[in-house]
Amino acid sequence: MSYDLVIIGGGPAGLTAALYGARGGLKTLVLESTMPGGQAALTDIIANYPGFPEGISGPELMNKFHQQAVKHGAEFKMKEVTGLEDRGEIKIVKAGEEEIEARSVIIATGAKARKLGVPGEEKFQGRGVSYCATCDGAFFKDKRVAVVGGGDSAVEEALFLTKYASEVVIIHRRDQLRAVKALQDKAFANEKIDFLWNSTVEEIKGNGKVEQVAVKDVNTGEVKDHQFDGVFIFIGTVPNTEFLQGVVELNDKNYVVANDFLQTSVPGIFVAGDVREKFLRQVSTAVGDGAHAAMAAERYLGGVI
Ligand code: NAP
Repeated sequence: MSYDLVIIGGGPAGLTAALYGARGGLKTLVLESTMPGGQAALTDIIANYPGFPEGISGPELMNKFHQQAVKHGAEFKMKEVTGLEDRGEIKIVKAGEEEIEARSVIIATGAKARKLGVPGEEKFQGRGVSYCATCDGAFFKDKRVAVVGGGDSAVEEALFLTKYASEVVIIHRRDQLRAVKALQDKAFANEKIDFLWNSTVEEIKGNGKVEQVAVKDVNTGEVKDHQFDGVFIFIGTVPNTEFLQGVVELNDKNYVVANDFLQTSVPGIFVAGDVREKFLRQVSTAVGDGAHAAMAAERYLGGVI
């Protein structure tokens, strides 16, 4: 099967690229490893996507993006992409045994949660260790939970967890949050949220499930066990680019590098969204990238760029 445009990844960037590609008359396929929507579909409320003054739930917004792309003719397949090969005018997208031919490709694979890499993290994943408050928060009703990190995700998810948990303690390695001021103000005003500053998680302990977290004071070096029923880790993301090593240029952190047309180092392969090397990773910037990359792919196919 051959397509004008194959989009790898069905988050906000991929879904927008699908809408623009299909609407532009390109035979367009989106390959998504799980349900459409990506990380945004795991977000409780998206408060800063324009057009929704009261905020909108991540799944609802992503469902609308998906419907609109389908309405305009984009095809979808649930397949995990394992390889991409450049054969000049044709690119081969590999999904297990299947090989799909594409005249142009948009990489929109996004990013996944970064791991802490401490003892107990892997062992207790799904037994108190989580990377998704929207998915797992409800299991911690009236419990005491830790949130690790100091960025927008950590603070936003800590606020969300106060719906369920009796106490939420943000463990941050510095004495200042990285999150935007609006989120910081909300967190400081929330009676259920407490902070352990200048602190790092050294180990997650328990008996079958999380019971304690060993926390180090980075100033004194002292390590103390704290009682927690859950640990939510939000320390940034790493791009989903394993299958792109040696295919397109990646930067030192493995994000895909692109020019002003969002074209990668390979003509005909474009990139959009969180997987791209860029300053701001938001639904709104992913949408801009998706539209931009799809229009650039159309121009490329027309021989204009
Ligand atoms: P981030 O902005 O990269 O923040 C990561 C946080 O984790 C930082 O506070 C960092 O500490 C800490 N950290 C990193 N590695 C660590 C380690 N090994 N041990 C302990 N702490 C560690 O990541 P993010 O919060 O996931 O956000 C990612 C992007 O999505 C950002 O661009 C963000 O603005 C965006 N986002 C936006 C919203 C929103 O607009 N509502 C919501 C969620 C995410 P330092 O501060 O010391 O570096």
